[in-house]
Amino acid sequence: MLSTGYPINTLCQILNGTFLQEGKEDFVRHVETDTRVLDGRPHSLFVAIVGPRFDGHQFLWEAYSKGVRTFIVSEDVDLNHFAEASIIKVDNSLKALQRLAIFHRGEHQIDVVGVTGSNGKTIVKEWLYQLLYRDKHIVRSPNSYNSKLGVALSILLMNDSHDMGVFEAGISQEGEMECLEKMIKPNIGILTNIGAAHEDGFRSDQDKALEKLKLFTHCPKLIYCADHDLVHNAVASLSWEKKCKTWGWRAGSTLQLLDVAKGNKAADLRGNYLGVDRHLKLPFNLDASIENACHLWLLLLELGYSDKVINQRFNDVSDIPMRLEILVGVNGCVLVNDAYNSDLNAIGIALEQLLLQPKNSKSTAILSDIVIPNKVATEKYMELSKLLKTKGIERFIGIGPNLQRHKHLFTGIDSAFYTDTDSFLQTLRKDSFENENILLKGSRAFEFERIADRLQEKTHETTLELDLNKMSDNLNLIREKIKRETKIMAMVKAFAYGNGSYDVARLLEYSGVAYLGVAYADEGVALRGDGIQIPILVLNPEPSTYDAIIRYNLEPQIYSFRTLKLFHKALTDWGYEGSYPVHIKINTGMNRLGFDLHEIEELGDLLRTEKIFDVVSVFSHLSGSDEPDFDKTTEDQVAKFETAASFIEQCLGKSVIKHILNSNGILRFPQYQFDMVRLGIALYGVSGNQVTRSELLPVSKLKTSISQIRQVPKGSGIGYSPKALLDAERTIAVLSIGYADGLARKLGNGVAEFWVNGQRAKTVGNICMDMCMIDVTEIPCQEGDEVEIFGDHISLYEISEKLETIPYEVLTRVSERVKRVTIQS
Ligand SMILES: *Cc1c(COP(=O)(O)O)cnc(C)c1O
Repeated sequence: MLSTGYPINTLCQILNGTFLQEGKEDFVRHVETDTRVLDGRPHSLFVAIVGPRFDGHQFLWEAYSKGVRTFIVSEDVDLNHFAEASIIKVDNSLKALQRLAIFHRGEHQIDVVGVTGSNGKTIVKEWLYQLLYRDKHIVRSPNSYNSKLGVALSILLMNDSHDMGVFEAGISQEGEMECLEKMIKPNIGILTNIGAAHEDGFRSDQDKALEKLKLFTHCPKLIYCADHDLVHNAVASLSWEKKCKTWGWRAGSTLQLLDVAKGNKAADLRGNYLGVDRHLKLPFNLDASIENACHLWLLLLELGYSDKVINQRFNDVSDIPMRLEILVGVNGCVLVNDAYNSDLNAIGIALEQLLLQPKNSKSTAILSDIVIPNKVATEKYMELSKLLKTKGIERFIGIGPNLQRHKHLFTGIDSAFYTDTDSFLQTLRKDSFENENILLKGSRAFEFERIADRLQEKTHETTLELDLNKMSDNLNLIREKIKRETKIMAMVKAFAYGNGSYDVARLLEYSGVAYLGVAYADEGVALRGDGIQIPILVLNPEPSTYDAIIRYNLEPQIYSFRTLKLFHKALTDWGYEGSYPVHIKINTGMNRLGFDLHEIEELGDLLRTEKIFDVVSVFSHLSGSDEPDFDKTTEDQVAKFETAASFIEQCLGKSVIKHILNSNGILRFPQYQFDMVRLGIALYGVSGNQVTRSELLPVSKLKTSISQIRQVPKGSGIGYSPKALLDAERTIAVLSIGYADGLARKLGNGVAEFWVNGQRAKTVGNICMDMCMIDVTEIPCQEGDEVEIFGDHISLYEISEKLETIPYEVLTRVSERVKRVTIQS
């Protein structure tokens, strides 16, 4: 959002573009790249970004129909469709956007803090905001927008009212930082820390450190922890000592730590800064949080803040993880719980997240007072009111004295105001919210987590948590392994491999996969009900569901002459006019569904004359793509497939989409990707191939909690029909998960280990229907603590090996009563 706006002609010059057409609007003020969140504001500029995830050119018409009249494109477009628009063509839209960001940064000579490092970037950025918002009007990257696109969009949020910027930069490859540096141009730098190089695909730790440091090439001041040898040596190799301000135990640090005393949820820090003793009391005591705080402690000292103010400000900072969660709410509600700091920009971004939730059509926002100086309060609350209206929010709940004071500004929206969180909670009833998408976003002091707790559905404490960001990373990793033009069909059968298909399908559609694959028609119907519009292939189309398939525009797999005839009949009975998209399945050795090779000739003859079918694709399925023992079979299957597919293409007189690879096929035989691949388990972070295991991120976490802890004396048994009695007194924790939740009974009696407060705990006794027991004698824990059944620490591989099965089964076995939750970490 550019407050001043850019005249279109200037814009074209800055971008070095050429007009394909000049339209009516004379300037632009808002930059958009995602049509789903367009709200019809005038003076919006739509930039058609071509990324590995999507091609923005596919959405030009949607943007135009939503009122956008200025476009940046990198391809020719059919001007007939965009009569009133200005269309500027550039070589590369992302680069053009970056050029605009660089220019825009140059127009604003304010202090800009650039933050990079492996961990803690977002926290440091958000804390800095929290520490300084009282004195400065700060613009910062929303959420964790830190990629090339994210940084460009963040920089473009800067306007004349800001007097400080805080932006984070994240890189995953060498060579990326230079471009981020040009846009951010920090004059104060913070390097949080550097993790191991192999985690991010760098050749060495040194390379990684040097690449990150590029953010500070032209920056006169850099803050980092002197105790990190890697960083310290990298800085030394650049001879940057002069511009560095360091903190740490190392002698000679600008802020030298003298003592760190950890207490209960608190830490007392003592340090020496420029010869003077300094104290800082923090309201938390985790090492990582203390480290993040120290960067900012030093920064505040450098900015001349007194001990007293620094301590007051840190007192409000909380180390609760900042993230945006999408939760299942009560009464069919969807809860978007956004813990990032509140300001108007951040609220705007959060409202956009809310609009992306298609489940309910009604949108509600629950917001607290925003942190702004009093003198601009009226103006800002007016802006907020306008923002809520343009985003189509139907119901607004404002919590805090300031909002209450300004409630007259919110006419035209169904709204209610409360002075504090408690008075809101007192009026909250079970049925206060129904079938609404609810945004929950409040400043720390308002403790909105208490509202989230009340509005979140709690049917059963056990949840299967799916991390959409990690899934998206897995998708991108797979994309790097295939050609750009190869399409992806993402398999979301069986409730998205047990994870809950709804958010997953949304993400995949947004990420630009070409197709979704489901097993049964009703799964496809449900996806259409959720608003999914991309083509959906049904792998097991039962003839009784053909009408639903046609009604909901699903595409069946045709695997035999019988199904061909039946579907033909269904189409004629329906009165279908035109050619219906179908997919022909060939059996090349799996010996499940499919036409055999000897049937292909007859099939080809049939399809040649049959106009009611539009054969979109021909495909087959590999039977052993994960195991080298079957490589010969795989080669043989591919050869048969090629023969069959090319024969069918000949008969049809056109080429079709050909596909045979599943996840392990993609990882091991990328040479057979043909026109499309069918991506399943790898999306969910599981690979059959040892080598790629470490590249994929585990996406699903099954977790539960401790219901009760008891001391059980020597000689006692645990649970039903104990196999053995305790040989010593043990501490036993009872967990709220049992075989009815999908936890295999075989995992009892010490077979499985679960993760409790950083340690492994073995099961004891038999697994019951709704509960099981673990031994926590050596593990400090309390009732209510979280226990991971599988996830980041206990891998799906480990559990499936213990069950002598495959991860697919473990995932899909998690029963329906286990609550599905999606998060974006
Ligand atoms: C499930 C399925 C896939 C995906 O398999 P993964 O091993 O999970 O990648 C691909 N094709 C077909 C026909 C399937 O049924």
